[in-house]
Amino acid sequence: MVADCAYASDSKGMHRAVDSADGKVYCYTNFEPADGRRVYANFEQPDLKASFTFRVIAPAHWTVLSNQPAPEPEPAGEASGVATAVWQFPPTPRISTYLTAVVAGEYHLVRESHTTPAGQEIPLGLAGRQSLASHLEPDDMFAVTRQGLDYYTGLFESRYPFENYDQVFVPEFAAGAMENAGCITISERLLFRSKVTDAMHELRATVILHEMAHMCFGDLVTMKWWDDLWLNESFAKVSAALSSVLKQLMACTGRDAFFAGLRAYFTEHSHRNATLADLLRALEASSGLSLSDWAKAWLQTAGPNTLRPQFAVGADGAFTQFAVLQEAPGGYPTLRPHHIALGLYNRQPDGSLLRFDERSLATLTESIGMFADSIAWSVCWSAVLDMVQRAELSVPAFVTMLVRGIGVEPAVSVLQTLHTTAARLMTAMADPGWVPARPDRRGTAACGGRPRRHAGCRAQGGRLGAAHRLARAGPRGRRRNRQRIRATRARRAAEPERRRLLEVLPELWQTAASTSGDCLATRCFRRSRRHRNCWTGWTCSSLSGSVTRPWSGCWWSTGT
Ligand SMILES: [Zn+2]
Repeated sequence: MVADCAYASDSKGMHRAVDSADGKVYCYTNFEPADGRRVYANFEQPDLKASFTFRVIAPAHWTVLSNQPAPEPEPAGEASGVATAVWQFPPTPRISTYLTAVVAGEYHLVRESHTTPAGQEIPLGLAGRQSLASHLEPDDMFAVTRQGLDYYTGLFESRYPFENYDQVFVPEFAAGAMENAGCITISERLLFRSKVTDAMHELRATVILHEMAHMCFGDLVTMKWWDDLWLNESFAKVSAALSSVLKQLMACTGRDAFFAGLRAYFTEHSHRNATLADLLRALEASSGLSLSDWAKAWLQTAGPNTLRPQFAVGADGAFTQFAVLQEAPGGYPTLRPHHIALGLYNRQPDGSLLRFDERSLATLTESIGMFADSIAWSVCWSAVLDMVQRAELSVPAFVTMLVRGIGVEPAVSVLQTLHTTAARLMTAMADPGWVPARPDRRGTAACGGRPRRHAGCRAQGGRLGAAHRLARAGPRGRRRNRQRIRATRARRAAEPERRRLLEVLPELWQTAASTSGDCLATRCFRRSRRHRNCWTGWTCSSLSGSVTRPWSGCWWSTGT
C-alpha cells in the first residue's frame, strides 16, 4: 500500500519542524494514544501487537533513528537534487502501534554504549537540533541513563527488553516525553540553555527514569486496553515516587513480595498484554495475601480519605490515648485500609508532638524551618498547603509559617511549590485589607515578627532574618555549628528562589487588595469580628449585604 500523508504541526503523527536558526529540518513521530493512523494504516489497539520493519528513505546526510538500532544507510539515488539513502531497520520485537517511532532529520547525534552489571551491552544515543548541540550535556544525560539502566535491570533481575536506548530532544513537542520502545522523544524544554536550578536537573533526571521505566511497564508488558493506562503511568513513577495507590499496594504486600510479584508478571506477560487482574494475581501469588478487598476499596471507589490524629495527654505530658481517625467526603463515603507511618517529633527543650491538632500547628508555625529531615518537612509543607486550600488553616497563619519556614528551607523544589501555591492562595483567598502599609512591615514579617530585636537585620533588603535568628541562638557546641554551616550553604543555594518569593509577597497582597470584596461561599475577603466564628456555623453576611450563606470555611476563624 502506498499513501501520501501530511506532516503534523501539533506533534500528532509525523511532526515536521524547521529550525528558524539555520533552516534545518527535523521530523519525528508521536503516536500515543491513537495517532499512528496518521502515518500508516493500523487499528490503534494496544493489544494488537506486531513486529514492525521500518524502511526509511531520506536525504543521505540526515540522522535516522527508530525502535531498533540504526543500520548503515545505503545510497538510494537522488530526489529534487538531493542525494538520498535508505535505512533498512531490523524487525522490532512485538510492540503496540503507539510505541513505534521514526525520528529523521539533520539531528546532531552522540553515540556511546553501556554494559550493565549482568553483561548486557546497550548502544546509547543522544540527539537534538544542531543549533542546540552545545546544550545536549551528554555527560550528564548518559550518566543518569547508565545509572537508570543498571537500577532497573537489577531491580527486575531481567535484561533491558530492547536493543538500543536512544533519547532525542525534539523541537515543538507538545508532550513532556514519550516512551517509544528504544527511541525516547523528550521535549526541548528539558534542554537547558541557561543556568537552571538543581530542581530542574532533578526534574529532567526524573523524566529520563520515568520513560526508562516504561520500557518494562507499558512497552514490554502493555495494558490490554487504555482504561489501564493509569497502571502504566503509576508504575513508571516507581522511579521517582510511587503513586499513592501503588504505595498502598506495596505497603500491603511488603516490598520484597511486591517486586517478586512484578518480576513474575513481567516474565509471564513479556511482549504481550496484561490487565490489572493479571498483576493482582501475580502479587497474590508472591505475597500469599488476598488482594480482592484491597482492589475493591482502592481501585473501584472514588474520593480521598483524610487522616487525623485524636489523642489525649496526661498531666505529665505523656500520651494516655492515641487514635488516627479516618474521614471520607460526603459524596464518596468509602473508608479504606491504610498503611501509614506516624511521625513523633521532639523539639528541645520541651517535647511536642508535631501533628496538626491545635498544639501541633502552633509548634509547626514556630518551627517548620527546624526539621533536620527533608521528608518530614516536605510532608509538613504539603499538609499545610492542603489545609489552607481546604480553609482549615487561615491565610495569615500560613503566611506566618511561610515567612519563618522559607528562611531555612534548603530545597529549591519545595520553595518553587511554595511560591506557586502561595501566589494562588494570596490571589484567591487572602483579605485585601491585609496589605502591608510600609515596607518595614514586610521586613518584620520576614524576620518572624519581632521588630525590636530585628531592628538591625537585613530583612528589608530582601534577605531573611534567618542569620539573625541563628546568631541569637548562640553557640551550642560543634555539632550545632556544623549543622548551621550546612544550613547556611543550602540556604545560599536556594537564595534566588527565596528572594523571588519574598519580593513577590507584597505584590500578592496588593493583588488580593484589588480583588472583589464580595463574600462568596468559600471565601471571605473582609477581616471582621463577625467572621471569627463563622467556621463553626455562623452565617456570614456578604459585604454587599445581599448574600447570606452559611460559612463552610473562613480562614479568619483560625487567624493568628
Ligand atoms: Zn509515563
